[in-house]
Amino acid sequence: MTSSDGSTPAPPQHSATRLVTAGRDTKAQKGFVNPPVFHGSTVLYPTAEDLHAHRAEFTYGRHGTPTTRALQDVLMALEGPQCAGVGLAPSGLSAISTTLLAVLKAGDHLLVCDNAYRPTRNFCEGMLKRLGIETSYFDPMIGGGIAALFKPNTRAVLVEAPGSQSFEMPDLRAIADVAHAHSALVIDDNTWATPLYHRSLEQGVDISMQAGTKYIGGHSDIMFGTISANAKAWPLVTEAIRLLGVCAGPDDVYLALRGVRTLSVRLAQHHRSGLDIARWLAGRPEVARVLHPALETDPGHAIWKRDFTGASGLFSIVLKPVPQKAVDTMLNTLKLFGMGFSWGGFESLAIPFDCSEYRTATKWAPGGPTLRLHIGLENVDDLKADLDRGFAALQAAV
Ligand SMILES: *Cc1c(COP(=O)(O)O)cnc(C)c1O
Repeated sequence: MTSSDGSTPAPPQHSATRLVTAGRDTKAQKGFVNPPVFHGSTVLYPTAEDLHAHRAEFTYGRHGTPTTRALQDVLMALEGPQCAGVGLAPSGLSAISTTLLAVLKAGDHLLVCDNAYRPTRNFCEGMLKRLGIETSYFDPMIGGGIAALFKPNTRAVLVEAPGSQSFEMPDLRAIADVAHAHSALVIDDNTWATPLYHRSLEQGVDISMQAGTKYIGGHSDIMFGTISANAKAWPLVTEAIRLLGVCAGPDDVYLALRGVRTLSVRLAQHHRSGLDIARWLAGRPEVARVLHPALETDPGHAIWKRDFTGASGLFSIVLKPVPQKAVDTMLNTLKLFGMGFSWGGFESLAIPFDCSEYRTATKWAPGGPTLRLHIGLENVDDLKADLDRGFAALQAAV
């Protein structure tokens, strides 16, 4: 494209623009804005010579379609110039397991943040242990002190910033500096902020994965995962994807592409409404503490401010001590906050949780019952009115 004076315009720089423009090939789609859903396994080759040479733009359904390529192009543009490739997986957990299998081998040692997603730990304690890979867990607030936990065979460090239940904010840059000094790779579960608000590959992370099930899809209607890697780690990731046969279903890929186009407006609203409600909750007499790194009072706030450009709509609260029965009454009273796992969709959610069941490196003792809230795209006054009714029911049940 050329502008009226004949010069080539500078490429758009802002993420919001890249989310809209990247991965588009209108001509290839006979003018339509979006690529179709390719339900495809077999790709036909025009000649035997082409077949022998695997000479084709697309070679087999598992290895990609025009829709998967469009989505990969958008995600690469979103991650920034450090990104050497993006792999697509059928779920967030599969993105994690594929990543770990890509970088580890028998005899290796892995360090995992104690606030990591619980099924990540299950994979480490289940399959990785069986394959002869040892995992140890570290305090998310350890920072550069992680150096003491390195062994000669420590090959990778997995961090979740922030943890998706307890919201401690690890110092990824300090951890990455130590890891790289020990020739270990750094993996970040970047589901909470997405690369729109946290460009972790620019901050020393080698592999950044997301449960695309959450904000990329954004509508609670797909299972999907992404694995983005820098030039050092991408050859390992792409090899594992090929060897394991990891690929995502065509309808979910299409819906992820459709979802990512509106990520910037959705996430901005989740950020605004989430913080508004977090501040409101901090002033409630029933609430002891709000766990949200974008709040000035949060222990992770300085790191959030340094490394992130926004927050999503997920955070937790610690209630002042009340019986679980009263909390359950509150949950049963809420109408706009549904009870269900996952998050990142348009709708608000509330669930109780207890990290003490699985933590090993740190003790989880928040001092009262804990709830995780996802603030959806409903009007915030309606959400506050719903919580108000919930708190009234809680008080009445004490
Ligand atoms: C949901 C989630 C996952 C797993 O994603 P699925 O698509 O449900 O497999 C991984 N990490 C975090 C932080 C999550 O919240």
